[in-house]
Amino acid sequence: MIHLIPIGEDVRLETLDELAVGLAREFRDSCHVREDRIDAAFAFDPVRKQYHATSILRHLTGLSPQVRILGVTSVDLCVPIFTFVFGEAQLAGRCGVVSFYRLREEFYGLPSDRGLLRRRLLKEAVHELGHTFGLKHCTDWQCPMAASHTIDRLDVKGDRLCAACRRTAAAAAKL
Ligand SMILES: [Zn+2]
Ligand SMILES: [Zn+2]
Repeated sequence: MIHLIPIGEDVRLETLDELAVGLAREFRDSCHVREDRIDAAFAFDPVRKQYHATSILRHLTGLSPQVRILGVTSVDLCVPIFTFVFGEAQLAGRCGVVSFYRLREEFYGLPSDRGLLRRRLLKEAVHELGHTFGLKHCTDWQCPMAASHTIDRLDVKGDRLCAACRRTAAAAAKL
């Protein structure tokens, strides 16, 4: 069971519903959209004016034992060693978080593109959830598990796991 949970006020439940369909297909698991919205104020860093992804993961871990949880947020995420991250997850753990702050075309000064945003969000969500299934970064550049720290690299990836990653994720899901 995968739970999707909105973090912040401007994450629409319809966005999560769409994402849930893609994730349920990819991980062959049921995907439930939660309505208990999280306020990420506790993770805000007033100096960086960003939100600490690792603090959010720690919070998610305490929410529900037994289920995999992916937080979806519109706030800008960071970790100490990077100026920003699209998302973060616990390797072979239960929780991940993704942000669409930098997945929107508007962030790059371009006109809004909802279809593109939806595709980017799905790839990033598959990537972070993949880490919770124990997947590491993949050398296949089309696989969503390939490392991508820029939007260009994210855009060349597909949203379906490569055969090797799919086998690893399936084996982890059975444990
Ligand atoms: Zn990664
Ligand atoms: Zn792969």
